[in-house]
Amino acid sequence: MINKLIEKAIKKESLSKDELFFLIKYPNLNEICKAALRIKNHFFKSIVEFCSIINAKSGKCSENCKFCAQSSHYRTNIKEYDFIEVKNIYEQAKKLKAKGVKRFSIVTSGKSPSKRDLEKLEEAIKIVKKLNLLPDVSIGIVDRETLLRLKKAGLEGLHHNLETAESFFKNICTTHDYKEDIESIKTAVDIGLYVCSGGIFGVGENWEHRIELAMTLKELNVPSIPINFLNPIKSTPLESQPILTEEEALRIVAIYRFILPDKHIRICGGRNTVFKPKSKKRVLNCGASGLMVGDYLTTKGFNVDSDLEDINSIGLSLV
Ligand code: SF4
Repeated sequence: MINKLIEKAIKKESLSKDELFFLIKYPNLNEICKAALRIKNHFFKSIVEFCSIINAKSGKCSENCKFCAQSSHYRTNIKEYDFIEVKNIYEQAKKLKAKGVKRFSIVTSGKSPSKRDLEKLEEAIKIVKKLNLLPDVSIGIVDRETLLRLKKAGLEGLHHNLETAESFFKNICTTHDYKEDIESIKTAVDIGLYVCSGGIFGVGENWEHRIELAMTLKELNVPSIPINFLNPIKSTPLESQPILTEEEALRIVAIYRFILPDKHIRICGGRNTVFKPKSKKRVLNCGASGLMVGDYLTTKGFNVDSDLEDINSIGLSLV
């Protein structure tokens, strides 16, 4: 049965819900990971891609995403700051470029960027591009005019997570509508930007919700899917949510590989919350084709050199 499902995925045929639940409930996780790796290898061979982010503007966000330390609705202890100096973005991008990073995303908190943010973003995009990195932005809900303006400055990609399934979204955020997120993604696809959109797992969703999100992403035909795992932040509504086990996280990655066989599946925020340093490379043997390296928005990540050691030790190479 598993071989039949691998063949289906390689032919980019959709698996039925029953077939997906067969994999979700299959007791031997190693077999599921090996199967996901075969699909990944078919489309991506032995490569892995590194991307990284910088939090260019932190905190005071009007939205109430329940997992987020940057929401103004919760009293978390994060450092809040306005748009940083563009030279700091350049320095960080340069450091990560030297570690093999290919895409570099400039992230700002807030529902949408302000006029001043846009001017700074244009400047930052140009400077990141000069380093031969692919500049992306993650700036909340955006319209066509904004994206065209940034594209003119050299923007390559838009990162905009859907976070979770539409049917579960109201449990995670109530300050904006899921449709606004979908619209931003569709606009970015429409004007030819590379779109990176995925979700955060371990926020109370079930497998039905996880499949629903994957199907939405498949329908939107985004080429890159970031998978984030909840790091429960003190003073957010999800502070007591249990952390996913490594096994559950691996199974999510593997199932996403079956549903989105030819897309870049990148393991992003929360990687070091779920995985221990010794076992973090397991994810690369379970269908992932990319890692977000360096620090996250408000928390520390794994040391990039240790990720480079991991990929060398299992014979992978960077794109
Ligand atoms: S996830 Fe983004 S939109 Fe939601 S609260 Fe955090 S910064 Fe704001």
